[in-house]
Amino acid sequence: MESIIERITRGHFWDFHGGIHPPEQKFLTASKPIKQLTLPKQLIIPLQQHIGREGDLLVSIGDHVLKGQALTLGTNPMMVPIHAPTSGTISAIKLSVIAHPSGLSQLCIFLDVDGEDTWRKRDICPDLGLLSNSEIIEKISDAGIAGMGGAGFPTHIKVSSKPDINFLIINGAECEPYITADDLLMMEHSDAVVDGIKILDKLLKPAFILVAIEDNKPKAIKAIQQATANIEKIKVCVVPTKYPAGGEKQLIQILTGQEVASGRLPIHSGIVMQNVATCFAINEAVRHDTPLIRRVVTVTGQALDKPQNVWALLGTPINFLLEQCHVHAIENQKQPVIMGGPMMGFSVSSELVPIVKTSNCILVPSKVEMPSAFEKESKEVECIRCGQCSDVCPSQLLPQELQWSAKAKDYSQLEKLNLRDCIDCGACAYVCPSQIPLVHYYRIAKAEIREQQQLDLKAEKAKVRFEARKLRLEKEKIARQEKHKKAAAARKAAMNKATPEATGAKSAVAAALARVKAKKASQGLAQNRDNTPTSPADLSTDIADDQKSQVSAAIARAKAKKKLKAEAANKAPSSSESVSETLKSKPEKEQEAATQQPSVGDKKAKIAAAIAKAKAKKLAKSTEITESDKATVNCISEKAVVEKAVNTDDKKARVAAAIAKAKAKNKALAKANAKAVDEQSIETNESSADGNSNSTKTDGNSSQPSQVAQENTVANKTDNISSNPSLAGSKSNAAMDKKSKIAAAIAKAKAKKKLKEASSIEKTDQDSV
Ligand code: SF4
Ligand code: SF4
Repeated sequence: MESIIERITRGHFWDFHGGIHPPEQKFLTASKPIKQLTLPKQLIIPLQQHIGREGDLLVSIGDHVLKGQALTLGTNPMMVPIHAPTSGTISAIKLSVIAHPSGLSQLCIFLDVDGEDTWRKRDICPDLGLLSNSEIIEKISDAGIAGMGGAGFPTHIKVSSKPDINFLIINGAECEPYITADDLLMMEHSDAVVDGIKILDKLLKPAFILVAIEDNKPKAIKAIQQATANIEKIKVCVVPTKYPAGGEKQLIQILTGQEVASGRLPIHSGIVMQNVATCFAINEAVRHDTPLIRRVVTVTGQALDKPQNVWALLGTPINFLLEQCHVHAIENQKQPVIMGGPMMGFSVSSELVPIVKTSNCILVPSKVEMPSAFEKESKEVECIRCGQCSDVCPSQLLPQELQWSAKAKDYSQLEKLNLRDCIDCGACAYVCPSQIPLVHYYRIAKAEIREQQQLDLKAEKAKVRFEARKLRLEKEKIARQEKHKKAAAARKAAMNKATPEATGAKSAVAAALARVKAKKASQGLAQNRDNTPTSPADLSTDIADDQKSQVSAAIARAKAKKKLKAEAANKAPSSSESVSETLKSKPEKEQEAATQQPSVGDKKAKIAAAIAKAKAKKLAKSTEITESDKATVNCISEKAVVEKAVNTDDKKARVAAAIAKAKAKNKALAKANAKAVDEQSIETNESSADGNSNSTKTDGNSSQPSQVAQENTVANKTDNISSNPSLAGSKSNAAMDKKSKIAAAIAKAKAKKKLKEASSIEKTDQDSV
């Protein structure tokens, strides 16, 4: 079977699917040498000109920088530095529109060129053999070199590949119409390009080096063949012109017949590809210590008087290049400017857009040359499902379905249709009869998917950080718990040791614990006393005791009363004393009664009430009863007061009854005396009967007196009887006896009533208690 090298040596190559043959239009610039332009007045240098992150700023506004001086620093592999393309002063660092299909703005350094073009100190390498591979890679990295074919991938990463490399492919195909920058570079600087290839050979040690150039660049092919004539390892491969033969996967398929599967990289097949411009830049960086500060740009189109390839400093605004190439002014219409070729390029929104590391062409077409660029409204119509787009797609995709899914923002469907394999070649749009700008839809969809992926990545990173923190906190918690457990075990072990110190400590701890327990117990009791209300049982016991004491006091009072009565009976006065006693006025007797018998009972009642009050106070003090209990105690006190009052009234009634009884007795005695006097007077004076009758009549006229009047009357008549016994008649004595009985009955009834009232009050108080 014919090997790859044999096929290449014989000029037999493979083909890739699809592809087109658009008008080349390379004649505009292919025969003109690369022009060195004058310095622009100002450069606008974007911080990010590659795939990856921008570097950290090393300069600030007002700084004067030298040519080749680093403006940013790459601190990780995906950060590629940028350098000052010439000497000058940093006038601004701000957002400015960059070379992007969406007209995106990015942070840019504005460098006011001083015109001196003063270089920083450079370290020229006379012999490549003096440098190690790592030193070479470091130089490439420090020079800020990124893929200059259009992708912009950091070159130092690509040349650090470890796996065995079968093929190092140098891409000089330059398949895009109009563009001749690589062609001219290979023609004019073939030795430098080959020196760059040698550096890559030193780093990657590939089995074969294939330099692929389309057959429409005969001068470049010749130049490279001459430069590599003595290098067996390097094969110059002249491939058929077909767009997009310069695509990475397409060129690999052309040269090796291998298809790089979807989602895989060439390095997985042992293949590394570099652009010829990148090889030139690597040589400049490693041998001449020249960072990537310029590149060859094809400024072309029929709208220019002088289309040509130029050495453009990175950061050069497009309008400066157009001035240098004499662009035609178009009346009443803005001149469309396309960055890149007609197939993969995009219209720039401003002529201030600067040249960057991946810019290889500025196309300024005329209206005749590219009428679609001047159309304000799209002529897009519905897809007719002709299938021409899929026929020409080099990535074997379904462009029409991709278009539908992109319009519907159905990202999952786009993923299934392998949108990521689309190389934005524009072949599908080129052949579309419906004039659908298919690549435009794909680019928008890719940007949205990229943004969504970045958000997902951020969310995933945040989730990982959260989980890691949670895990760390959990570990710290477990470690703390283990530490505490160990410390506790150590303390316990130390206490259990039978040393005198440990025993002493143990006993001291035990004593302390006992003290704490005792203190807690006493505090608990006090708290119970403070917080727990007196139980109803205790309260009822206290009340019962109080009642008992009251009953005892009442019994004592009754006994005293009984004793007093007995003494009064014993001390019953003689008839003369009784009479004199009887003859005392009622107020005097009441006063005497009030000051004699009741005073003893009242005193005892007071004592009993005081005892009850003291008990209640003691109870209240000891238990600090609640408000309801206080009310109860107050009730008890009130009861004692009421009882005292009742007793007082009771005694008064009893005294009144006793007075009435005494009065009745006195009257009975007076009656008996009067009877005896009458019998005596009858015996002594039989003729005095008329006078007695008058006296009786007079007495009878004084009927219906009040009780006091009756008593006064009784007293007066008694006096009269004493002074003049002849006047007392039998009728008047009977009337007095009757009255005194009535008075006694009234007094008894009053006493009973008061007793009843007193007993009912006492009962009510007991119920309320
Ligand atoms: S070429 Fe255009 S019209 Fe034809 S299928 Fe593709 S998108 Fe539709
Ligand atoms: S732009 Fe994409 S879909 Fe269209 S032909 Fe090229 S690779 Fe295929």
